Amino acid sequence: MLSLSRFAARGLALRSSRALHAASQPLNSVTEQDLAHFAKILPPSSILSTLPPSSVASEELHLYNSDWMGKYRGTSTTVLKPKTTEQVSEIVKWCNERRIGIVPQGGNTGLVGGSVPVGDEVILSLANMSKVRSFDSVSGILVADAGCILQSLTDYIAPHNHIMPIDLGAKGSCQIGGNVATNAGGLRLLRYGSLHGTVLGLEVVLPDGTILDQLTTLRKDNTGYDLKQLFIGAEGTLGIITGVSILTPPAPQASNNVILALPSFKNVLPLYEIVKRQLSEILSAFEYIDRTSYDLAVKHGQGRALSEEDVEGAECFVLVETSGGKREHDEEKLNNLLEFLLEADEPLINTGVLSQNPAQFSSLWALREGVTEAVSKEGKPYKYDISVPLSSFQDVVDGTREHLKSKGLYGDHAVKYVVGYGHVGDGNLHLNVVANSYTPEIQAALEPYVYEVVASHRGSISAEHGVGAMKTHALKYSKSDVSIAWMKKIKQIFDPRGIMNPGKVLPE
Ligand SMILES: Cc1cc2nc3c(=O)[nH]c(=O)nc-3n(C[C@H](O)[C@H](O)[C@H](O)COP(=O)(O)OP(=O)(O)OC[C@H]3O[C@@H](n4cnc5c(N)ncnc54)[C@H](O)[C@@H]3O)c2cc1C
Repeated sequence: MLSLSRFAARGLALRSSRALHAASQPLNSVTEQDLAHFAKILPPSSILSTLPPSSVASEELHLYNSDWMGKYRGTSTTVLKPKTTEQVSEIVKWCNERRIGIVPQGGNTGLVGGSVPVGDEVILSLANMSKVRSFDSVSGILVADAGCILQSLTDYIAPHNHIMPIDLGAKGSCQIGGNVATNAGGLRLLRYGSLHGTVLGLEVVLPDGTILDQLTTLRKDNTGYDLKQLFIGAEGTLGIITGVSILTPPAPQASNNVILALPSFKNVLPLYEIVKRQLSEILSAFEYIDRTSYDLAVKHGQGRALSEEDVEGAECFVLVETSGGKREHDEEKLNNLLEFLLEADEPLINTGVLSQNPAQFSSLWALREGVTEAVSKEGKPYKYDISVPLSSFQDVVDGTREHLKSKGLYGDHAVKYVVGYGHVGDGNLHLNVVANSYTPEIQAALEPYVYEVVASHRGSISAEHGVGAMKTHALKYSKSDVSIAWMKKIKQIFDPRGIMNPGKVLPE
């Protein structure tokens, strides 16, 4: 018995070191033979390749090989667009046998370079998997293909008086599978919590092609390990999400918003305390925009500008949203709050602009949601999406600006703006450094500087965008060696041949 178990243990060690060895070998490129095999699984219209017989021009793959910011670029020769989970499984099985890397791609709106190849991996686009599988208007449980666009799901359930528990600026392009894969936060997290809570089940194709069906619609299920949680936020490194079951909340009967102009950042924290206390259960968003972010949003046509009088002397703005069950009740609460704030002996706000109709409601939101787009229209953004204590938000922004000045990198020739905005209610600051172009000097000035600042606050280097290709080297600033070692073990178990989204999330 003893020798058998020793033998068994040795066999296991041999297998895992062989697998480790395999994972460290370069991955194979797609060949014409591979393409011929893919052609047995997919119709010609679902294969885009620069190789024969598809032979499309490489420019046709440009959009798939480049990320939303134009910062990361892959050299993939082949994009596959399966329509069914079985097709995904067949493709993955083949790629695993052949050791061809795969990048799952949703709406390609990710901001950390996770959705494009680091080399010439196959891009597996979920765009053709866009069917709603079921919706139960009593329980609010929606089951959908992973490639459904967030906005179309929102539109699908709206007539049934439900809303998606997640909302973000990229909703017109991002897919629910991508949202789950990145554990996206967005504008409703304060109210409805994270996807770790609202996602009830997943269907995932594992790196060996096995279909893991955990697409349950149960609210309660305590039978063993909750495997689905591993894929939420794994950024496609453990498998391809093909189906999502998610709990959608009833649509609020009334939603209002107001934008508050503040003379100083130091007023944000006390304001948040008052707003939380007074609005309590109807508070659904508390979003922060510094003055430069606001000016850029207006400059690039995001939302309607407030009047000059309203913005005069404002150092920053806060957007407050309420969602509740009774319009009169909610409006009364919001009006009482505004009166209280404006009539205080030492007012925390200069002014507040309350939306009066749906168009104004959207326009106020556009000022906040449009900052990401405005910043990228203004120049090349270095984006840091960090969690730090709320009281440090402005120090981090100002400190980064001063740091760049001290390196001679601030000004029209290099960095034009350093701005801060984000989900104050979630302790999540978007620190954006807008440069004329991406340069090694700016990169070297920002990293590891920003990560060290975050670590000094015991914060997170990624509050919601993920790690992608951008932050693999910086994971250590937020996770201990022990945590990283266990993440690597998990990756090894699921993907011993290292084909699934290589070069992402985990450091080499
Ligand atoms: C204007 C704008 C505003 C944004 N606002 C927010 C915000 O408020 N909050 C926030 O969290 N993010 C935000 N983002 C970032 C981005 O939209 C989110 O990360 C989104 O969830 C990505 O979804 P996607 O479908 O575009 O995924 P992609 O960009 O295609 O992929 C992102 C990652 O997920 C993986 N992936 C995609 N689909 C699958 C799948 N089916 N199975 C397995 N892995 C998959 C990819 O490999 C990649 O690693 C914003 C982006 C933009 C451009």
